[in-house]
Amino acid sequence: MSDFVLKVGAAEIIALSDMNLPFPMPLAQLFPTAPADAWTPYKELYPDAFEQEHMLIEIGCYLIRSQDQTILIDTGYGPGPIEAIGGRQGELMDDLAAKGIAPQEINTVFLSHLHSDHVGWNVIEQNGKLEPAFPNARYLAHQADLAHFRKPEIQAAATFPFMERCIESVAAMGLLDPLTADTDLTAEVKALHTPGHTPGHMSILVTSQGHEALIQGDVLVHPAQVTEDDWNCHFDHDWPLSTQTRRKMLDDAETRATPVVSCHFPAPGFGTIIRRQGKRYWQTGLNP
Ligand SMILES: [Zn+2]
Repeated sequence: MSDFVLKVGAAEIIALSDMNLPFPMPLAQLFPTAPADAWTPYKELYPDAFEQEHMLIEIGCYLIRSQDQTILIDTGYGPGPIEAIGGRQGELMDDLAAKGIAPQEINTVFLSHLHSDHVGWNVIEQNGKLEPAFPNARYLAHQADLAHFRKPEIQAAATFPFMERCIESVAAMGLLDPLTADTDLTAEVKALHTPGHTPGHMSILVTSQGHEALIQGDVLVHPAQVTEDDWNCHFDHDWPLSTQTRRKMLDDAETRATPVVSCHFPAPGFGTIIRRQGKRYWQTGLNP
């Protein structure tokens, strides 16, 4: 098995990368409640998740093959160049091509939430016109995120007008389906409302032939949060609810030994929740 493919019974999850970058906002700002000296042990445990006082962040997306469906989870930062991250340009389409996946194969584009690093490749520009990057797909997002990110004050605070480019364009094409509750995408793939990071944040539970895996989204952004589950991220919308959702997810994943898939952890983001001396940690990789 390639190290970017996770088999879950008859289903599979393929890790994709849009980019990897030192996040411009320093750790002290990105995790405002984390004491500065508390990072030291995590820098030793997870060296690939740091670049000095910055988080080294993977912008991961995932493709699920389940039954006769091909589902893309999140679409990265997009073609850019994105000023807020030093003019970087996403590479998701190149990575799909490198892994032998054609955009036309994708039936569903599932958006875990509507932050700019998760929706960027929804559309591409052709002859000066926006077109869906995945021409045969329906696009899914939670209604609570649509309502939240459509607020003028939320859009005004965004570093670039990604809602108009990446969401309203797709809605205008009649391709956007809002979700209002936990939803089965196939008999093996369930979208779960896991609010906190954003009001309509969703995770994906894949269950097949007695196996399971959880694509957690941005419930956890950095592996240190597996241990420090009350370190909220600057971008978490509701801090108490983010912590509550994170703890419940960690409790469940630890109890059930569920493989967890984390888009912002070092690629491919596959791991498990383990316990050592009374504390939880992220264990990279999965035992066969
Ligand atoms: Zn994110």
